[in-house]
Amino acid sequence: MMITVFIIAVIFIYFFMKHEHACVCDGSLNNCCNICGYTLKQEYNYCPNCKEKLKRKCKGCGRMIDINWRKCPYCEQYRS
Ligand SMILES: [Zn+2]
Ligand SMILES: [Zn+2]
Repeated sequence: MMITVFIIAVIFIYFFMKHEHACVCDGSLNNCCNICGYTLKQEYNYCPNCKEKLKRKCKGCGRMIDINWRKCPYCEQYRS
């Protein structure tokens, strides 16, 4: 009985891992569009597929920074 439970658990873990690897869009890597899932390059300002804005211009230094960043890493200007 225990062996059966163990085998089922292994199969579940296997499928779960496989599913994770199959997903090319990992939110933590932030390399794909949140809206449409299109693979993005770091330098993109807009998603070429759905035109979602990805970057904003810093009010402090004028550089394009990630739209999710609350603070500019170049000049430390907080988003207002
Ligand atoms: Zn998109
Ligand atoms: Zn700045």
